[in-house]
Amino acid sequence: MKRFPRLGLWWGGVLVLAASLALALPLVCDKCGFESPADAAVCAHCGAELPRSGAAPATPEPTSPLPAAAATSEKLDFLDPSVVQAEIAEAQRHLGRQPELARLFLINAQALEMLTDPAAGGRRAARIKALLDECERSSMQVRIKCPVCDGTGRRKFAGATLSGQEVVRDTPGSPCTECGGSGYVARRARVEDLRFRKGRALDDYRTAQQARKYVPVGGAWVPQDLELKLTVRQQAQLRRVTAAPCPACAGIGRLDCAACRGTGRVKCPNRGCVEGKITVSASDNRIIRLKDKAEQTCPVCNGSGFVSCDKCGGRGSVLCAKCGGSGQRVLCAKCGGQGFLPCRGCLGSGRSKDGGVCAVCGGQGVELCSTCRGDGRKP
Ligand SMILES: [Zn+2]
Ligand SMILES: [Zn+2]
Ligand SMILES: [Zn+2]
Ligand SMILES: [Zn+2]
Ligand SMILES: [Zn+2]
Ligand SMILES: [Zn+2]
Ligand SMILES: [Zn+2]
Repeated sequence: MKRFPRLGLWWGGVLVLAASLALALPLVCDKCGFESPADAAVCAHCGAELPRSGAAPATPEPTSPLPAAAATSEKLDFLDPSVVQAEIAEAQRHLGRQPELARLFLINAQALEMLTDPAAGGRRAARIKALLDECERSSMQVRIKCPVCDGTGRRKFAGATLSGQEVVRDTPGSPCTECGGSGYVARRARVEDLRFRKGRALDDYRTAQQARKYVPVGGAWVPQDLELKLTVRQQAQLRRVTAAPCPACAGIGRLDCAACRGTGRVKCPNRGCVEGKITVSASDNRIIRLKDKAEQTCPVCNGSGFVSCDKCGGRGSVLCAKCGGSGQRVLCAKCGGQGFLPCRGCLGSGRSKDGGVCAVCGGQGVELCSTCRGDGRKP
């Protein structure tokens, strides 16, 4: 009984904290990390449905102006769009040969774009999105050695030796029907290959950003003079959008199917089938003479030589169990994915007890989440 009032006080404190959280924190898009107003239903940036917080739509926090001496004056209001343009230009330089490297510059552009003045409009966000789609398309396609002719480009046919042993021969004169004789075919990239290229692209990207004298802010890179001008919210914004992906799938959301090694198809299970053709002998004689044999289309694979992999339904990949296919790490439980928390010094008001600027947060009212360091994802 004696403890009750203290407990009440404690709960009161929690409620105040919870209320200030619900009021102050906008909704963060799960997909792109863009911060939308608390009452928004879809992400203003990518159009994805936003997570519903249990809180009622927030009424704006009563804001009384901070003292004139507010330390936030040297902070950045809005980023100059030319910084975003520079990232888009870098991306375009690499788009043709290294789409994964281009993609990293575009993600950086996307993050930086969110610090520009939304009132200024412009078509940059849409442009970045279109280029990202282009990267994705070319990334997902690879040229692989033709699985039918093993890269020789020559058509194979089934024959038999005089002793009746079945053999498969190359025919130099006729090109492979699968690859048209080039020895290569375009395929959807295997996740493993994609992951390898993403890793290499990230190395190249870091080297390139360092060469430009840019500095890292989480996964983002900014011009050196910008680093100290960023507010806590801006830092969290950059870090969220550029957060490292799910480590299991490297952000792809899927893993290669083990049964077909990512190809989506397996060799025709019909034992006599070679490249979709079966050889039937004209006689019952066990020794098949070449002149007697006739080629027929294999009824199991309809002549393709392959059947769809039933383990993955022909997709070649299965959903990443670790992230459920989102490609992202799970949200940070401490900050709910915002990347920042109300300042412990002033509980979010930005003011010290004597009415001056809070020394802990410099009047910003928030500080980076110590658990996720601002990227909003569980470490
Ligand atoms: Zn979004
Ligand atoms: Zn071929
Ligand atoms: Zn499969
Ligand atoms: Zn077959
Ligand atoms: Zn994953
Ligand atoms: Zn503070
Ligand atoms: Zn956090």
